[in-house]
Amino acid sequence: MKCEKIQGLLKTDFLDGELDKKLKSYIQNHIDSCDSCKTLWANLYQKTVAPFKNLKEIKPPESVWSRIEKETLAGAKEPFSLLDWLKDKLPPLFYFPKPAYAFAAMVLICFMTYFLYFKPSAN
Ligand SMILES: [Zn+2]
Repeated sequence: MKCEKIQGLLKTDFLDGELDKKLKSYIQNHIDSCDSCKTLWANLYQKTVAPFKNLKEIKPPESVWSRIEKETLAGAKEPFSLLDWLKDKLPPLFYFPKPAYAFAAMVLICFMTYFLYFKPSAN
């Protein structure tokens, strides 16, 4: 794996501890042997992880959690709408990209113009 890719992972998933063991170990070995990546990792760690390493976890009061839960659930419950329900159940029937509407309108206008102004002659 190239340094560029490794450094991308260092800034994201490796930093967040989101990598699987195998990849994490691979990257750790790379860091140990590559000065460029080692320097980047040292800087990242010093600026993003180290300042928060010794912070004490603070639990918010129970009332805060219950208020968050209440407001979250209140926002999640919307009145039942048959149209929304149908859109969820039958998405292909209701999905038309906007350009399709514009194209359909253009075609309709062309046909209307043709039949209104260019009537076939009787003879
Ligand atoms: Zn490297």
